[in-house]
Amino acid sequence: MRVSKSGLRKTTVLRRHWTGETDRYRLPWTHRSYLVWALLTLQVLADVSAGHDRMKAFTGATLIDGTGGAPRADAVILVAGERIVAVGSRDEIPIPPEAQVIDARGKWIVPGLIDAHVHFFQSGGLYTRPDVIDLRDIRPYADEIVWIKQRLPKTLARYLASGVTSVVDVGGPFWTFELRELARTLKAAPRVAVTGPLIATYFPSALKTEDPPVPKVSAPEEARTAVRQVLARKPDLIKIWFIPLPGRSLASQSLLVRAAIEASHAGGTRVVVHATQLDVAWAALESGADVLAHSVEDRRVTEAFIKRLKDRDGVYVTTLVVNEGYQEVLGQKVELTDIERRFGDPEVIATFGDLARLPAWKKLLAYRWPRREIRFWNLKRLHQSGVTIAAGTDAGNIGTLHGPALHRELELMAEAGLSPQAILTAATQGGARVMGRAVELGTIEKTKLADFLLLDADPLTDITHLRRIDRVVKGGTIFNPDEVVGHND
Ligand SMILES: [Zn+2]
Repeated sequence: MRVSKSGLRKTTVLRRHWTGETDRYRLPWTHRSYLVWALLTLQVLADVSAGHDRMKAFTGATLIDGTGGAPRADAVILVAGERIVAVGSRDEIPIPPEAQVIDARGKWIVPGLIDAHVHFFQSGGLYTRPDVIDLRDIRPYADEIVWIKQRLPKTLARYLASGVTSVVDVGGPFWTFELRELARTLKAAPRVAVTGPLIATYFPSALKTEDPPVPKVSAPEEARTAVRQVLARKPDLIKIWFIPLPGRSLASQSLLVRAAIEASHAGGTRVVVHATQLDVAWAALESGADVLAHSVEDRRVTEAFIKRLKDRDGVYVTTLVVNEGYQEVLGQKVELTDIERRFGDPEVIATFGDLARLPAWKKLLAYRWPRREIRFWNLKRLHQSGVTIAAGTDAGNIGTLHGPALHRELELMAEAGLSPQAILTAATQGGARVMGRAVELGTIEKTKLADFLLLDADPLTDITHLRRIDRVVKGGTIFNPDEVVGHND
């Protein structure tokens, strides 16, 4: 892999310290914060000296602003610094003479996409879930984690190249808080919200490390303590992994979930809950969940469930693509989409084929995957009922590639029967709602952060046109997607 020395200069020092691969490199947290602050200051100074603070005027494109309104032809978007200062038609918005004009005639502009469910502690490759398929004798789990941490700057760049300007990491080790800081210092990275460790009633021993992604709790007081420990790191949300355990009643496990949610709400932080079965998702809502991390896959949703979700003003995250990813890799029938081939991590993709060389892989073909029809039916029903939907992939799981996987997710949402307009809303406003940042993200409106995409084709005629990305704008900075991959090398 080619490594650009100039690109390294800015990030290597920080990366080496924060990944903490050896104690020798580990700095106390206060020093690391200072380092982050210093790098941010340098970045700002560099931007100003390079003239990046000059106002930008994007003119002539067809604007789909993400509010659900009709597209506007020949639009003008004025951007000052990282914010949008004016949006409208050419005769409404005078273009200041000092502005840099970006002629966007023939393009469509949409808000930057948001993937509301990813895991940066998982690579998307074959060795990343030893609790699902245990290949630790081939690649030790500790080696996988070191490898993942080393390539995080590139992984972040793959999101931006794919038009994903914000992501939500819905569960990982404590080091994901440092990843959030890294994303803030890197120019070519999406905005990253993190939950930190998953509060869970179950711990898969294969994921054991010094900094495990899952602190197991077995009593309400333990749940409250675990939540407070995570809250001390200021997570954007708290995540609960609600896996019903055989031999224990759902009601008794709900007590732990309720205790964790109450502690989190007391700390002013909303809660996202993993629940893939209808009765578990119902119990999660009854316990106070704000966001459901996955589609319900075992049964059709009921009217009572829909009502409860709406009454709570809850958000339902889709994650349709993740099962397909597992199915394709473990069934050895991988079909990459165009944008996965373009922006997917080639070293991660290369691991998929390793399975064919292993004697045991044929057994995996017999695994019965949950049928997608129920997930599709539920998504359409909930959308029609007015529930807020957010597009999320569960990227990082085996076969679900960081960055481009969101585009396959959106295609599956279309197969489930959602219109391109509804899908775009879920992939922008819906994600902003999960992040708790709908005031400044998710639509193209005055005062919001300037995160948007310039496209070569109309996404409202075909949602796969969202892959035809000409430029990505994040916080007012313009990126060429093909150049972004490799930007953080
Ligand atoms: Zn997940």
